[in-house]
Amino acid sequence: MLSNSLVELDRAHLIHPVASYRGHEKAGVRVLRSARGATVTDGAGQQLLDGFAGLWCVNLGYGVESVVEAAAHQMRELSYATGYFSLGSEPAIRLAAELAERTPGDLDHVYFTLGGSDAVDSTVRFVRYYQRARGKPEKDQFISLEQGYHGSSTVGAGLTALPAFHAGFGLPYDWQHKIPSHYLYRNPVGSDPQAVIAASVAQLHAKVAEIGGPERVAAFYAEPIQGSGGVLVPPDGWMKAMREACRALDILFVADEVITGFGRTGPLFACADEGIVPDLMTVAKGLTSGYVPMGAVFMTNHVYDTIADGAGAAAVGHGYTYSAHPVSAAVGLEVLRLYEAGVLENGRKSGRRLMEGLASLADHPLVGDVRGRGMLAAVELVVDKAARTPLPAASEPARRIFDRAWANGLVIRAFGNGAIGFAPPLCATLAEIDAMVERTRRTLDQTL
Ligand code: PLP
Repeated sequence: MLSNSLVELDRAHLIHPVASYRGHEKAGVRVLRSARGATVTDGAGQQLLDGFAGLWCVNLGYGVESVVEAAAHQMRELSYATGYFSLGSEPAIRLAAELAERTPGDLDHVYFTLGGSDAVDSTVRFVRYYQRARGKPEKDQFISLEQGYHGSSTVGAGLTALPAFHAGFGLPYDWQHKIPSHYLYRNPVGSDPQAVIAASVAQLHAKVAEIGGPERVAAFYAEPIQGSGGVLVPPDGWMKAMREACRALDILFVADEVITGFGRTGPLFACADEGIVPDLMTVAKGLTSGYVPMGAVFMTNHVYDTIADGAGAAAVGHGYTYSAHPVSAAVGLEVLRLYEAGVLENGRKSGRRLMEGLASLADHPLVGDVRGRGMLAAVELVVDKAARTPLPAASEPARRIFDRAWANGLVIRAFGNGAIGFAPPLCATLAEIDAMVERTRRTLDQTL
């Protein structure tokens, strides 16, 4: 039984990420005690299927012994090594090389971070450095998408377009611009894929012109599938069209694969599926499957060489104490080995089952839209299917859906816009996926 004192200690001392502080104090923490595979056990001893892989990061599943062993071995051998002063460690170098072999095109250079936010933050620094290095310091404006999420660093939160990350923080900065999302279910141009793609390309061109033309714009950021905005899947060909538009406009295309990387949508990287090579790419989450913190920025040979040549003998002044941490890198290597030894394949099979299962909910009176790819999906709830009227985020059903699912033994993500998100561990069996769908149906029935 969870001791009351833990709840009190949490209330008194622990600040939680993206929470209503007063609301959390009232509700109290729900402590997780242990986890194996796709199942977590809470403080009361209830076992739940984790339909969200923690925070869409535990792609491998929980408690894999060989990952624990890899971390323990590395801690005993060399618990820390800086990358400063041209020092390094074997696992970090090997992980960089293994990843470079697998990233799309010539994204051959990697800078390791501690997670996704500082990966995005690092790209902003690298992009600015790159544009200056090629003699174009006036290219200093950034564009990203409405409904996009690019982390919670001060700069990344400004690229993010979710209101909670701006309110009270004085964001976004005036050099951070947005264009509409492709959001197929609610796109003013309708849901015809070609029309949506054409609209996005036109909106990018229009925004660039509004800012002062290509000579003012440094980069455009997009997630291959918008995650925190409600799992918004662009039409096939959207990423390619936007990538080409960026090339034509001479602005860098930054793909934020923090969620989509490492098998979440099927392939190792979603950009590969789209047949595109971004100029820079961010990853985190699945890189170490959430066992230890790590993220990364990949850059093409051209971007790397431009920065390197621009700096000459001077230091490129960007670095963290924990960049390329050897324990995280050792975990990353083992996680990658396991992905390729069968976990990715299992995820593809279970992902097909997940999408079929969720599609079977489409005729539920509360379900307006079912969307996703692989093990990344959302069901958008509405109060009027024909009019697509969103379930108000502040309504009782929307607020309670997470708790109802929990009581039914399922962890889901409840988005503010009435959508519920799914991102199960890629190790989930077909039976576990079926149980997740069944528990979702029960939760929706109770919500009616
Ligand atoms: N970028 C995307 C697309 C994300 O989904 C996230 C986190 O969910 C981030 C960046 C930030 O990553 P982190 O929470 O590891 O800082």
